[in-house]
Amino acid sequence: MATRIIIPTALRQYTAGHEVVEVSARNVGEALTKLVSQYPDLKKNLYTDDGKLRSFVNVYKGDSNIKDLKGLETDVRLGDELIIVPSIAGGAVATFGEMQIESDVTLSNEEIKRYSRHLILPEFGLEGQKKMKNASVLMIGAGGLGSPFAMYLAAAGIGKLGIVDFDVVDYSNLQRQILHRTDSVGKPKAESAKATINAINPFVDVVTYDTPLTSQNALEILKDYDVIVDGTDNFPTRYLVNDACVLLGKPNVYGSIFRFEGQVSVFWANSHEATNGRLPEGACYRCLYPEPPPPGLVPSCAEGGVLGVLPGVVGTMQAIETIKLITGIGEPMINRLLLFDALKMKFRELKLKKNPDCVVCSDHATIKELIDYEAFCGMPANDHSQNAELQSQTQGAKSNPNEITVQELKARLDAGEKLFILDVRNPNEWEIVRLNGTVLIPLPELPNRLSELKGKENTEILVHCKMGGRSAQACEILRQNGFKNVKNVVGGITAWATQIDPSMPTY
Ligand SMILES: [Zn+2]
Repeated sequence: MATRIIIPTALRQYTAGHEVVEVSARNVGEALTKLVSQYPDLKKNLYTDDGKLRSFVNVYKGDSNIKDLKGLETDVRLGDELIIVPSIAGGAVATFGEMQIESDVTLSNEEIKRYSRHLILPEFGLEGQKKMKNASVLMIGAGGLGSPFAMYLAAAGIGKLGIVDFDVVDYSNLQRQILHRTDSVGKPKAESAKATINAINPFVDVVTYDTPLTSQNALEILKDYDVIVDGTDNFPTRYLVNDACVLLGKPNVYGSIFRFEGQVSVFWANSHEATNGRLPEGACYRCLYPEPPPPGLVPSCAEGGVLGVLPGVVGTMQAIETIKLITGIGEPMINRLLLFDALKMKFRELKLKKNPDCVVCSDHATIKELIDYEAFCGMPANDHSQNAELQSQTQGAKSNPNEITVQELKARLDAGEKLFILDVRNPNEWEIVRLNGTVLIPLPELPNRLSELKGKENTEILVHCKMGGRSAQACEILRQNGFKNVKNVVGGITAWATQIDPSMPTY
């Protein structure tokens, strides 16, 4: 029996779809070397150019990070499992200590009736319910994760719930964002969320922030809340939320989703101090992922897709962790990372450790104030609507010779020009909608299928995808391989469907 290496969904495109790769090796380094020699495309995703393991790649042997063992020198034996964890941003009651949440409020008869199933839980009781009423929680994002989170927190009697979201409800949100209804399409998400929450429980004080969270306003918005809940879908906002929580000493209840997989944890760098030493020193998100993956490596849910019920499970677990922190019951997920695979219906728990050299939460931290997170991640904080994004991309594109707008493309096709258009989306997206006369080569396959473009080195190649992100990467690959006249179609087929041919479906 060999060592099994578990490949996460995001990297399976480089392993011909395999979830498990078996190799025989003496240590982790050798196992990974064998893995990348079998699948060379994986190499640049796991290693830096000078051969070091990338900092956003975590490798676990069993439930321990190899960083806490002997790194790449860690021995592996027959039957061991190695797990590559990508960044994607009970029992007896143990009371772990107060969060300074007081229970000096009273409950009305109506509230007692409403929360009676909590009140008769010995661990929760009147005391726990009063703490819920006195507590405040800030939810970043009123989307897939925020939906079940907010609805359960509201039903459970949270006193004050802040919602940061400046997106508007889109039809494509309704498949999973159950806070919003069909008749909310086009309305601000914060407003739509508030209406749903107060319909569930009018006692909740809902405060909406219909604004993007930025380095300028984050500390001001977060400082008044007891618990912060990360329901974002992009890396710049995720690092911003993490750093702001560390600087303010607040717990950060983390959840993330991708396709069929989810992650949950509680990051709380100040946990030891805040609970008078009852909890160990907590890790933060940067202790686990010091740096974000390079732009484009981890696709967003808009590009990669997500099972609609998945955020229901992950967001509900975030709600449970939040209630545990507020009421002080149970064992919070500090220094633990839960991985959930919905297709296998499997949970896996990994240990986390505070990184003694963490740039934001260690004793010698170098980050003492919020930074420019879009620059740090090399990507925009895309928490806004697809159309707004397309608009800004389309407007900025006019003077760039490496890009073509859908209006220019239409004009040239109408003039009878014979154009070579390359579609780099996945086949299942091609099934939904396509432009006539295009050639399909999905981005992950492009490096191995360049021979199909032989003879086109000097031909103009117009490349498109769904919204312009993957096609920009494809243009880069083509240029590096000697194709001299490559242009990215700005906004992709979504721009074509919204601005040129509204009879086409969008997805
Ligand atoms: Zn840290």
